[in-house]
Amino acid sequence: MNKKTNTGILYVVATPIGNIQDITYRAVNILQKVQLIAAEDTRHTKYILETFQITTKMTSLHQYNESYKTNKIIFLLKTMNIALVSNAGTPTIHDPGYILVQSCHKNNIQVVPIPGPCALIAALSASGLPSNNFYYKGFLPRKTLLRKKILLKTKNIQQTIVFYESCHRILHSMKDIVNYLGRNRIIVLVKEITKKWETIKYGPASDILLWLQQDHTRKKGEMVIVISGIKLHKKTIPLNVHNTLSVLIKQLTLKQAIQLTSLIHKTNKNQIYTYAIQNFIHDKK
Ligand code: SAM
Repeated sequence: MNKKTNTGILYVVATPIGNIQDITYRAVNILQKVQLIAAEDTRHTKYILETFQITTKMTSLHQYNESYKTNKIIFLLKTMNIALVSNAGTPTIHDPGYILVQSCHKNNIQVVPIPGPCALIAALSASGLPSNNFYYKGFLPRKTLLRKKILLKTKNIQQTIVFYESCHRILHSMKDIVNYLGRNRIIVLVKEITKKWETIKYGPASDILLWLQQDHTRKKGEMVIVISGIKLHKKTIPLNVHNTLSVLIKQLTLKQAIQLTSLIHKTNKNQIYTYAIQNFIHDKK
């Protein structure tokens, strides 16, 4: 209980995304100590409770009853501590729970995250793509036209892009990625994280598509698609300026090449300088 407000605490508890050993000591401890667990699917969470001999009672909180259940849980939180869990990974990350969490804040009830597995973060961490700044858009849409729209929207994004994907749609999605983002776009397909058939496939989009088509078992399982963002130079200076700069930079000093390119194309020197530092500085060294 929170001593200041004299109300209970909502713990948002991450659970494994495959390997049961990925649960944290703290998560087990909290699940044992709270008076109630609000679970996305109580049958699913039963396995975790049995494995760690946790006897806490459960109630369901899923996408179809979340609004209705939230009021009940908020009422219970006045007198008890409750843990929120989803079927796998971190609750509220493409899982139910945010309505309850928001309601806790509005009702001055303390919310405590118990961090742990999350497929999106695990996939990013093993992708080998820049991840300081990334774009996450949940699942790619099922409908072809919507999927096309989202992919075209992400086409010029510079950050690494992450989508959750289902085994039923991965072939369609990969074909669309090749069509709309290009066959050479680097993709990291991260499958079955922490499980027996864990696989990380890195390569151009067309190679990943071919790999999936070569063996139908490769489409199976849970997966995350990580897509490299577009290279900065495509956005920052026009192609003709880039071409001039790339020729001059081989013959002249950096300063001379920038000055001459700026004169020829009547383009801002600072813009060319920033671009040159980002793209050519290693060549000059
Ligand atoms: N809350 C979860 C989390 O923290 O990762 C995500 C729930 S979302 C409904 C389920 C999707 O996450 C799956 O369809 C898949 O795209 C991804 N996912 C979950 N577990 C995974 C795993 N072990 N390997 C790869 N992707 C996984």
